[in-house]
Amino acid sequence: MHKRYDIIIVGGGAVGCAIAYSLARFDISIALLERNPDVCMGTSGKNSAVVHAGFNNSPGSLMARLCVEGNQGFETLCRTLNVPYRKSGKLVVAFDCEDMNTLNGLMENGRKNGCVGLELLNTDRMKQLIANIGGIGAMYSSNTGVFNPFLYTIHLAESALANGVDFYLSHEVTRISKEDGGFSVSSGGEDFSCNILINSAGLYADQISAMAGDERYHIYPCRGQYFVLDKDASQFAPIPIYPAPHKGVGGLGVHLTTTMDGNVLIGPSAEYVDSKEEYASTPEVLDQLFNEAIQLLPSLNRGMIIGTYTGIRPKLIAKGESNFGDFIIEESKLVPGLIHLIGIESPGLTASMPIARLICKLVREKIPLLEKSDYEPEYRGYPITRYLTPEELHCLVETNPDYGEIVCRCERITKAEILQALDNPLGVRSIIGIKNRVRATMGRCNGGYCFTRIVNMMQDDGLKPEDIIFRDKGDSPFKGKVK
Ligand SMILES: Cc1cc2nc3c(=O)[nH]c(=O)nc-3n(C[C@H](O)[C@H](O)[C@H](O)COP(=O)(O)OP(=O)(O)OC[C@H]3O[C@@H](n4cnc5c(N)ncnc54)[C@H](O)[C@@H]3O)c2cc1C
Repeated sequence: MHKRYDIIIVGGGAVGCAIAYSLARFDISIALLERNPDVCMGTSGKNSAVVHAGFNNSPGSLMARLCVEGNQGFETLCRTLNVPYRKSGKLVVAFDCEDMNTLNGLMENGRKNGCVGLELLNTDRMKQLIANIGGIGAMYSSNTGVFNPFLYTIHLAESALANGVDFYLSHEVTRISKEDGGFSVSSGGEDFSCNILINSAGLYADQISAMAGDERYHIYPCRGQYFVLDKDASQFAPIPIYPAPHKGVGGLGVHLTTTMDGNVLIGPSAEYVDSKEEYASTPEVLDQLFNEAIQLLPSLNRGMIIGTYTGIRPKLIAKGESNFGDFIIEESKLVPGLIHLIGIESPGLTASMPIARLICKLVREKIPLLEKSDYEPEYRGYPITRYLTPEELHCLVETNPDYGEIVCRCERITKAEILQALDNPLGVRSIIGIKNRVRATMGRCNGGYCFTRIVNMMQDDGLKPEDIIFRDKGDSPFKGKVK
């Protein structure tokens, strides 16, 4: 029996979920199919989480237009979705005269792209912002921001779910065939059909496109490794610091990003790899990252490192090629009804909502879109206690004492927040699911303190130890009983 929908979205990253959130406004049936056991487990959860201003992108490109538009609306969007966001500003630092020319070029790009809040700073002004910074001059962008990409994607998805979108997690799309006027899709052992298929599969968008009959694309995976530094490091790097970009490096260069919650990231590298699953961290590249980072900020030391992670860019340009790969967002010329999102690399997070609006426009050209009377764009999720004032927290504890019990000491996450994460609307019940929703285990001790407490809470919630999964089915954190 086919499950029939007007629209199927393949991929539950930030972009797929932004599309689900935006299309949920209309009176149509929508399903989102995601191969992972949760949303935001692909590239959307493995990046710098910067809301870019739009001065890095080629003037006239789709990337530039959607990035600037995304930047302008991001703060309001985060308020609507109760997602942590900070307009941090950012410095792009020059080390020599060639870099100074690059900064002038970025100012000019920014002007052409419609960015505001850009200015050139001399060393005195730079050092007023960050005392111990390297370099001979910088460009300051006041409109750059940082945010929490996990909560952003999760709240987009939960809002879409509340507005009637069906989410199918652990549903890998394995076959697509054309059927009269639409598509038949096999996914997670079930059969689906739809009129319009939206291909938002990130690194795998070329494969989804080929499955549907359009074989023109090839995505080249380009790995970006990161160090995560303890929150103490943010006293030295209170705002993101980037080097002036160099052509042909495949990214914006190794930068320091002060995250929404105060950690500092060093990275990413830019290495073309053979596999789209090559997420390993490698000692040589990590060493190189640290050496580049201390040129930007000599006061960093290795004792600040608390972790590593890796993201992979879905590049349309092969290694060594110098042409520019813009986002491809269009209906396939070969397969009517298939809407592609291909090559959605940085600034894909920043641009996710304008991308979703563009998709709504493309869908409207195919089917009528009538607004629902009961659509609710605001989504609150649950209180995030670490951002509350002591008075606000006090009131919460009065209503529920579990808000007064800290379970994750590094990140100050309470028992109430972990229980709510465990009882999430998408039905995700894994350690990683809790981590991505509330940050428990993300601190300096890497879960040394809270992990066993979380496991106890999962057991109290009815799970047997052997049924507790780390990330996915069959992925238990426990090997057996010790006593
Ligand atoms: C190192 C790095 C740094 C970055 N920094 C920034 C930044 O600071 N700011 C910014 O704006 N952007 C940044 N980006 C870009 C940004 O992360 C991406 O553009 C964005 O996350 C893309 O979202 P997506 O939803 O298209 O892809 P994804 O998040 O990868 O989602 C695609 C989803 O499709 C699913 N999928 C794939 N195949 C199938 C299948 N067969 N069946 C079902 N599901 C499938 C995947 O599991 C995945 O969940 C960065 C990217 C990288 C790699």
